[in-house]
Amino acid sequence: MLSSLSRQQAKSHRVGVAIPKTKGLKESPHWTGRQILVYETKSDTTNPAVRILKDSVFREAEWKGVMLYFLDSPVFRELDGIYQNPDEHFRFAIYSYACFVLSLELKVDVFHAHDWHTALGCALHKASPWGKSTVFTIHNLAYQGDHPHWMTGFLEEEPFYLSRSSMDQNGKINYMKAGIMTADKITTVSPGYRNETLWEPNGFGLSYALSFKSENYRGILNGIDTEEWNPKIDPHIPYKYDKNSISKGKLKNKKSLLEEIQRPNLDSNRPLVGLIGRLTYQKGYETFLKAFLNRPRLNHFFLFLGAGDSELEAKLFHESHHNSDRIYFYKGYSESFARKIEAASDFFLMPSLFEPCGLNQFYSHAYGSIPIVSRVGGLRDSVDESIFEERQTGIVFEPNDADSLGFALERAETLYEDKRKFELIQKTIMQLDWSWKQRVAEYETVYEEASHR
Ligand code: ADP
Repeated sequence: MLSSLSRQQAKSHRVGVAIPKTKGLKESPHWTGRQILVYETKSDTTNPAVRILKDSVFREAEWKGVMLYFLDSPVFRELDGIYQNPDEHFRFAIYSYACFVLSLELKVDVFHAHDWHTALGCALHKASPWGKSTVFTIHNLAYQGDHPHWMTGFLEEEPFYLSRSSMDQNGKINYMKAGIMTADKITTVSPGYRNETLWEPNGFGLSYALSFKSENYRGILNGIDTEEWNPKIDPHIPYKYDKNSISKGKLKNKKSLLEEIQRPNLDSNRPLVGLIGRLTYQKGYETFLKAFLNRPRLNHFFLFLGAGDSELEAKLFHESHHNSDRIYFYKGYSESFARKIEAASDFFLMPSLFEPCGLNQFYSHAYGSIPIVSRVGGLRDSVDESIFEERQTGIVFEPNDADSLGFALERAETLYEDKRKFELIQKTIMQLDWSWKQRVAEYETVYEEASHR
């Protein structure tokens, strides 16, 4: 999200993006040579946070009009990636403090923090006499960065001096809550998800905090990079196509992919349904498996790419083996394979139980694969099973309901047989504009409002 949003914003604003610098950083950025120290003190302290901050520095780089600030710090330097490392409570507190200092140094108008990892930055601004206006964006409330009190005592000491009152949640220190309670404006990645999170269970325990701030809480749908995700020029797909050559282009891609997965004899006139995603509870793949088993007569062939929960992987391998004429499961992460699936599929299935925004429904629209989605979060905001065929942009069913999903798949089968209507919808969805252009204006409004707090 951040790379495409910041590039769009940089066309009309000064934009700086902070990123931890890890060993895993693949590309070599265009360094400007500027460095920004994070903490200066002459005293020889034993406080670990202060010692680490003294050894941390931001290195400035330039990328497509956006200024990047890589935090070169002992707590990130030796890591392969940013997430899922031990001691995240400490690492991201350090990172948030560093980002707070950077924003003061750069004299920004607005400090924009994303998810719990940088939420303490908003709390630091709120507590500081030099604090800036802040915007806090929630990407997924299921991950809140909550830690026992005994681990987070350091937050009350130098250099943080944060009070626990706005961070305490059920006897733990909750970074996400700190962001919600202290930011001037809160956003999340779709209007649908915004409304859902004001209630439990979708608020994951924080619906009361979000309701308290609801006047300053807004949903802004994510966008996609439409130059990156374009079947006319996508270098990963064997046959390029556009809205005037959908049927031919997709059929060729379908035949080629069926060969690649060693199903060359499968009838290419059967509807191909793509599924791609992390195998976690959130994505609702258990509901899909139920519907798949309950409706053995469905004519669809399911092509599934994903990795994650090992039990779910085992179930999918089992089905892939025993029902090889109905489903193929590939375990792994591959953007290239994902793009080939989008180009080859007739439909794309997203059975999420909750979905802050989702991206694949946008990619599916761009690639002319009709999305079949559960009525949740950003999916309900971007896919419409309208009764007016010229406005239909997908098929929608109730979340966590295998019957509703099965019925949606049956509707997809009927639609696939009605070639005129099927092709009309494909053409409609390929013309939708899900680029960041319009979203930038919405973020501008939020920044304006935040600075007039
Ligand atoms: P989330 O962020 O909850 O995982 P999103 O739909 O917002 O879900 O974005 C995840 C992106 O990662 C999607 O574009 C999805 O296609 C992609 N993705 C997820 N798993 C895989 C995989 N195994 N291989 C390739 N791409 C994947």
